Amino acid sequence: MSEFDWLVVGAGLTGATLAERIASQLGQSVLVVDRRPHIAGNVYDELDGDGIRVHRYGAHIFHTSSERVWSYLSRFTTWVGYEHRVLASVGGRLVPLPFNLNTLDMLFPAPDAAHLTGLLVNTFGESSRVPVLKLIDHPTPELSELGRFVYDQVFLNYTAKQWGRRPEELDPSVTGRVPVLVSRDDRYFRDKHQALPAEGYTTMVARMLDHPLITVATSTDYAAAASSVKHRRVVYTGPIDEYFSGVYGPLPYRSLRFEHERLPTGPHQPVSVVNYPNEHDYTRILEHRHFAGGSSWAGASTITREYPDEYRPGDNEPFYPLPAEASHQAYRRYADLRDETEPDTVFAGRLAKYRYLDMDQAVNLALQAFDRRICCAVPA
Ligand code: FAD
Ligand code: UDP
Repeated sequence: MSEFDWLVVGAGLTGATLAERIASQLGQSVLVVDRRPHIAGNVYDELDGDGIRVHRYGAHIFHTSSERVWSYLSRFTTWVGYEHRVLASVGGRLVPLPFNLNTLDMLFPAPDAAHLTGLLVNTFGESSRVPVLKLIDHPTPELSELGRFVYDQVFLNYTAKQWGRRPEELDPSVTGRVPVLVSRDDRYFRDKHQALPAEGYTTMVARMLDHPLITVATSTDYAAAASSVKHRRVVYTGPIDEYFSGVYGPLPYRSLRFEHERLPTGPHQPVSVVNYPNEHDYTRILEHRHFAGGSSWAGASTITREYPDEYRPGDNEPFYPLPAEASHQAYRRYADLRDETEPDTVFAGRLAKYRYLDMDQAVNLALQAFDRRICCAVPA
């Protein structure tokens, strides 16, 4: 039976960060397993037959204001600057999202747009970010009406498709991710660093795992590895309820189905991502070639339609923990059980922590977990 110091469950960004730190900083051996047939978890990308880099699990745009995360990942990749701009199909037109002053100009008659712009700037200040639920609650009737318009046109139906719930049934931070912007800055993100790994995410993660003390086994489940490989400690980045065999019942997750289509000629749409709040069963279409720059080209294109779906364990992936009060409470029971029974196992990442984490947050929390739980702790 082979023997490792650590068994890391999950070869996504969280597992890769922790494996890399353990091997390079502590000189300890690591077996990284993932039940999917590839590394990189949800950030997995690959070149298709036309040489287009395809994000197999939906558009992944790296954005961070954390210098620590940026410099850490920059050891494993160079970057291509990329500022994400999203359009949404509203009232038969493609308009900029997050809803901003340009969107207002496109959807309202000029005098109304000018009046509302003045009101927004005077009330909230230039460049402010106003969550739609806050705008609806505003005492000024015109602002509240504008909030209601944005809610109806952009959020209500998209959120119903994505989560099977109304926006107010979720943590306010969910719709707060895409606030109304009192600005003409059309970018989806505001972070200092916004980029894509020059040779893709999979290559970046492969370099993180490329260490003589790290062994990687894909298509390998935790249960199989745990019973066949000797190891002293575990990092677990899978779903926490699954770890405990669902003793308190399943935690809710949302899944997605990705429908990839090759088009003989592109572009299909003017930007990488177009959202469809009010039409179709899918929420958005991603056209991958835009990530390589430019908005016009001759030749083939690959698009991906993103259909929200129920999570069916063993059948599809638990892409999103459900960000709502009841599910956080259900998670707490598992977290208490973890603290009582598994003090030596390190639970990390979007699924084990049951948190809606962006990539930079996942890496940041993995680096912190290494500092606090692994690097300076006395080995068991
Ligand atoms: P994961 O990538 O989910 O990795 C966990 C791994 O564990 C998986 O590969 C899984 O197969 C494996 N695993 C689970 N259980 C077991 C088991 N029992 N045995 C073996 N292996 C197991 N973030 C951004 O910053 N920008 C974006 O633009 C962005 N877009 C996104 C779009 C979509 C559609 C989704 C779903 C997420 C997006 N994210 C984005 C978030 C990003 O994907 C996550 O922050 C990141 O992937 C989290 O990494 P992780 O390692 O924690 O989880
Ligand atoms: N959202 C929406 N309409 C949109 C875009 C976003 O209702 O056109 C809501 C929806 O609830 C979504 C959330 O805002 O889940 C966060 O959007 P984001 O684009 O950040 O979602 P992610 O890329 O993380 O899936």
